[in-house]
Amino acid sequence: MSSGRSGSTILETLMNSSKEVFTLGEFHLLFLESDLNAKCGCGDYLNNDIIWSDIIKKFSSSRILFSKYRKTFSSKTGHYGKVIRINKLFQILFNLNTSESLGYSELNYKILIHLNDKLKDNKSYVDSSKDVYRFYDLYKSNLFDIYPIHLYKCSQSFVYSMIKSSKGPLRWFLLIRFSLRWLIENTLIKLILRKTKNKLVISYGELIENYSEVITSMYKKFDVCHSGKFTLYTQINHGIAGNISRNQSREIFIDDKYKYGLSHLEKQLITMLTFNLKSFK
Ligand SMILES: [Zn+2]
Repeated sequence: MSSGRSGSTILETLMNSSKEVFTLGEFHLLFLESDLNAKCGCGDYLNNDIIWSDIIKKFSSSRILFSKYRKTFSSKTGHYGKVIRINKLFQILFNLNTSESLGYSELNYKILIHLNDKLKDNKSYVDSSKDVYRFYDLYKSNLFDIYPIHLYKCSQSFVYSMIKSSKGPLRWFLLIRFSLRWLIENTLIKLILRKTKNKLVISYGELIENYSEVITSMYKKFDVCHSGKFTLYTQINHGIAGNISRNQSREIFIDDKYKYGLSHLEKQLITMLTFNLKSFK
């Protein structure tokens, strides 16, 4: 789980280095991406994809329920759900479960079982869907063995990635909005994971600088076999809704453009709005 643009695609691609791992991408966007005639991580259209096409057909009648965390796409605002959802927050704070949430989790479970049968192999699945509330539903259902990973970027770097092409009053508005989003989402993830035993908390910097060690210890914790070599984009993946870089061969480099892309005042404001929080461990 992450706030987005926090290195989750890199993490997912590195985790794809093991044959025991299958990376789903942003799984919960399957039907929305299919409606947009989008491509799979392998480069084929989802609707013709060797992995997803029959699943899209088979579970077509459940597409509304499956897409409940992202009902619409908007090119202007991206495809994010609301950061604050009062009824879900209420559920989380009082540790509640609803039949609707359970129905949603069961549907996810059915699709994964179908996929697992299709792959004829018991795999570990990496789900990069970034919706915190959705994670809560799946976690509470007790249908899955979940090993949550909380990946976070430093607040200035995250906010910069969201506002870099904006100018003037809009930039200030977005700066405030994304600072608060960073704070709320990461705090929520921390809150939900407070009682989970198998969680891993990783910062973007840590991942990029020591990716080999991070993935090795992650596989060890999750009991996954691997060759010890981690490279980007060497194995075909069928991730949903990833960015185009999934299909390209690229070096890993740390993105620290925010250091000179943000003014001194902007940096101070972000630090203030995020209560100077630097770590979620
Ligand atoms: Zn594919």
